[in-house]
Amino acid sequence: MIQSEHQRQAYLKALGIDVWVPGAQPPAAQENSANGDSADEPAGLDWSQLQAAVVACTRCALHKSRTQTVFGVGNRAADWLIIGEAPGAEEDRRGEPFVGRAGQLLDEMLRAVGQEREQVYIANVLKCRPPNNRDPEPEEAGACRGYLERQIALLQPKIILAVGRVAAQTLLATDTPVGKLRGKLHRLGATPLVVTYHPAYLLRSPTQKRKSWQDLCLAMDVIAGRAA
Ligand code: SF4
Repeated sequence: MIQSEHQRQAYLKALGIDVWVPGAQPPAAQENSANGDSADEPAGLDWSQLQAAVVACTRCALHKSRTQTVFGVGNRAADWLIIGEAPGAEEDRRGEPFVGRAGQLLDEMLRAVGQEREQVYIANVLKCRPPNNRDPEPEEAGACRGYLERQIALLQPKIILAVGRVAAQTLLATDTPVGKLRGKLHRLGATPLVVTYHPAYLLRSPTQKRKSWQDLCLAMDVIAGRAA
């Protein structure tokens, strides 16, 4: 075991349960659904169809400024699904999520729980880069959400790790700070979800790494059936 029994007991004792309510979409997502453009609805697409739909997507204005879409990478039979915010400049250039220093730290975090980058699946809430790395607008997240939902449905991961404020708040349709979302087990539909800090934040605030380790231990416990 990677974590000690003492560590495991300590954070299990502090474990809270927070159940995501299916159907509680953010308003923007509801508006997007109401727009009625069903020609490229992601539900029902297979992986290659879904990827092609994303590459060609013009559902929101971000398609105008992207270099390329960033669909997601990794093992399509993964237990772990890592979800971040949106592509940054380097991701936009390379077409891959979580590259650069933050990506390297994410790789180290995953390695600490016995997962190589190739073993997990990594995606973002948005498939296109917001200009100047600004936060996604609600309508952009709503327009893009169907792609991520289809990725989740195809993957059927055992755990979703929501990385950072934007991913956590968007997925859970809340404005609760990350510090209050982490340390608890959430659910996205039927899939367990754990929130942790973004590695870019951990690079700036290394003292928070201890908490991110606790979050990863919680995720491991969920996969092992020790937390539900
Ligand atoms: Fe389409 Fe998502 Fe890119 Fe917007 S961010 S253009 S919805 S793929």
